[in-house]
Amino acid sequence: MTVTRFAPSPTGFLHVGNLRTALFNYLIAQKMGGSFILRLDDTDPERSKEEYANGIKEDLTWLGLNWDRTEKQSARLARYEEAADELRASGRLYECFETPVELDLKRKKQLNMGKPPVYDRSALKLSDAEKDELRKTRQGHWRFKLDQERINWKDGILGDLSIDAASVSDPVLIRGDGQFLYTLASVCDDVDYGITHVVRGSDHVTNTATQIQIIQALGGTVPTFAHHSLLTGPGGEALSKRIGSLAIRDMRAQGIEPMAFLTHMAHLGSSKPLELATSMDQLIEGFDLSNFGSAPTKYDIEDLKTLTQKVLAVQPLSAVADDLTNIGVPSDIQAQFWEVARENIATRADLAGWWDLISKGAAPLIDDADADFVAQAKALLPATPWDETSWKTWTAAVKDATGRKGRDLFMPLRKALTGQAHGPDMSKLMPLLQNVKL
Ligand code: GLU
Repeated sequence: MTVTRFAPSPTGFLHVGNLRTALFNYLIAQKMGGSFILRLDDTDPERSKEEYANGIKEDLTWLGLNWDRTEKQSARLARYEEAADELRASGRLYECFETPVELDLKRKKQLNMGKPPVYDRSALKLSDAEKDELRKTRQGHWRFKLDQERINWKDGILGDLSIDAASVSDPVLIRGDGQFLYTLASVCDDVDYGITHVVRGSDHVTNTATQIQIIQALGGTVPTFAHHSLLTGPGGEALSKRIGSLAIRDMRAQGIEPMAFLTHMAHLGSSKPLELATSMDQLIEGFDLSNFGSAPTKYDIEDLKTLTQKVLAVQPLSAVADDLTNIGVPSDIQAQFWEVARENIATRADLAGWWDLISKGAAPLIDDADADFVAQAKALLPATPWDETSWKTWTAAVKDATGRKGRDLFMPLRKALTGQAHGPDMSKLMPLLQNVKL
């Protein structure tokens, strides 16, 4: 069975970057009839917060990315200890004592000599007596001893990849203070939960190489890995600089529609033309990892705003009925109101403006040059109640009386009735207007 997972660290809220990872893993599991795990990578007790874990769940739920079960790394420390023991016993985990400053110095020296800054494994040369001596003043950290050979895998997006393990430092799995690091925890979890597919950002490619060796050292089955491109801002700049404005919850507050978001995220970076999805099933159906490429992908919130408008325009009344009730639209005219408003809103919040216009009326907008014309037109307004023919009847009468036609005829009348130059089809709007201030 296909098992995927989304593994955020609850050290912040979800943002567009990691949401894309969540969506891909969700879609793969759904498409294969598999299961999707939400795994909270919370081994860092200082930075991980319940508030963020809850926020992540809230955001995923808002988007409809439902998960089958939640796992927490902080609940599995005993398991990681066991895995560490296993690696120690097989000679794959070794204790090191360099301080960050010493490591930094080593790296600088290597770079000065034109060498790659790879950990030199000096700790492997320490005798037991030397280690005992060091332990008196320092807490050792533990590194995984990579087999220095090429690590190859077929990446679901990037194709055949090969990384020379000798060009990578032996990864630290346990810190000096005993904290298990992500690499070990993630590998144990992926093995234990039978994860079959791991999709994540291309910043994890090197991690994948080392994780493959750790998985093998623990006797696990290596999942299929795929690395999606990272998002950049509209100008190609790194997204992380603007992360504040990229939080999913901020977008929700701005009125971005979940389906706009999902359609956009499932399409960004793919070679297929954008097609607005109207349901999750449609997204699942259309999703294919092999359509995605390696080039950095530009993300622009303006695209989401445009898509939000398109999503709203095709919503049935049932999808907005609660919003309409909340702003006071009586149920017997909700269908009519929605018909008029649906293509004239950027977000659901704009509904209130149209309801205000309809229920309370708007101050007429009359250009000086149109004052006489509008006065003449006012006298010709058909008697209420207005219906869908009223606008036509009125404008025809005004045209006859004044000789105006086209935009010169229609625009001043629209502005006089609605107080604005843009808006819904006037034939449909007029019957709804309850309070005309003209
Ligand atoms: N917690 C890791 C991250 O957010 C998970 C990476 C992974 O998918 O393995 O980067």
